[in-house]
Amino acid sequence: MTELQEKNLKYNWHPYTQHKTSSAPIVITKGKDAILYDENGNEYIDGIASWWCNPHGHSNEFIAKKIYEQATTLEHVLFGGFTHNKAIELSEKLLNLLPANQSKIFYSDNGSTAVEVALKMCLQYYVNKNQKKNTFIAFEDAFHGDTFGAMATSGISLFTDSFKDNLLSVTRIPVPNEENFNDVYKKLEKLLKSGKIAGFIFEPLVLGAAGMKMYEAKHLNQLIKLCKKYNTFTIADEVMTGFYRTGKLFATDYLTYKPDIMCLSKALTGGFVPLSITSCSREIYNGFYDNDVSKAFFHGHTFMANPIGCAAALASLELTLSEKTQRNLSRIYKLHNQFANQLSKNSKVENIRTKGTIVAFDIKQNNENIEYYGELRNLLYDEFIKNKIILRPVGNTIYIFPPYCITYDQLHRIYTVIERVLGKL
Ligand SMILES: *Cc1c(COP(=O)(O)O)cnc(C)c1O
Repeated sequence: MTELQEKNLKYNWHPYTQHKTSSAPIVITKGKDAILYDENGNEYIDGIASWWCNPHGHSNEFIAKKIYEQATTLEHVLFGGFTHNKAIELSEKLLNLLPANQSKIFYSDNGSTAVEVALKMCLQYYVNKNQKKNTFIAFEDAFHGDTFGAMATSGISLFTDSFKDNLLSVTRIPVPNEENFNDVYKKLEKLLKSGKIAGFIFEPLVLGAAGMKMYEAKHLNQLIKLCKKYNTFTIADEVMTGFYRTGKLFATDYLTYKPDIMCLSKALTGGFVPLSITSCSREIYNGFYDNDVSKAFFHGHTFMANPIGCAAALASLELTLSEKTQRNLSRIYKLHNQFANQLSKNSKVENIRTKGTIVAFDIKQNNENIEYYGELRNLLYDEFIKNKIILRPVGNTIYIFPPYCITYDQLHRIYTVIERVLGKL
């Protein structure tokens, strides 16, 4: 352990980490594009875009410059009773890009709070209408964040078990596939008929934390259509899928039926500073629009719509929509598909799947009970680190989720290391 690592462990508490048994966190001193440098000068290829939030690479100078300009112009202003031009510009741009039914933007700080806002919008909407609807529907294995509402709608027991006696009312339905679709549909319809449902929340097309579990747009379309039939709100949590991660600007762009509420965060600011938005339809907004003050939406955060965050988001959006990024995206889609083809010849893997810039597969296991942070996962993680590649396998799933600026050589290096590690198993 280095001196800095020792000092770190003296003072810091890391997420999802059993400090008694895990190895010391690596001290990163610098980042450039898809590379992170540690204190000993080692270079790691970032294969997971820094926990899914970094599309344009580390320390991107264009975004950094815009942040500097904003920080030296207006660093913060309260969003209660005041506004500023970066929030206005960002909301206008986002609403032009989001599905046409999205009509207002509510700012907060991170993915979890964006979800909290979405859930509270649904709950208070019905309170304002004097209706009692307080149960949510969510997918088994969903992940929507670690605050209480977000956690209640999340279905990965490792993350929520300790808190399960203190959570909102949520009923789960399985993630749909060809075999179970009719059952899922019937289960959803039965729940919707109960009249108690405040909303259905889902990660569209890809369940990230569940291990990049993928399902089809045609199935989600049918489920949203059914919710519309029963006048039930739908919430697309695009915190991970937003900004071309799945091959379209938003995963929702694959759908014909659009959600009432959407959550965005992670890549929103290019991975520079925390910021999130919850967008909603006019119908939801109108449910709060009244002469009665008590019907106003009672939610806010000190740093909501922070000008530096908005400036970073505007800069990142400009890069996201640029031709250069579009070329990078096409290259990643193509290379991922080639890699997936090659993997299909490997007898050790199964469930090979790609969606846009994500490629994932499972290592065949005899054991049914694969632990999220289990032995295999830790072995793989350590092997990748030894090879100076940052990947975070989930159970027996390996996925690649690169920043869009990753080079051909860097991506190939990741594929090669994965194949080599598979060969050792
Ligand atoms: C990461 C994530 C969240 C939580 O976001 P935080 O910024 O970590 O609070 C919520 N939903 C999805 C789909 C996510 O991937």
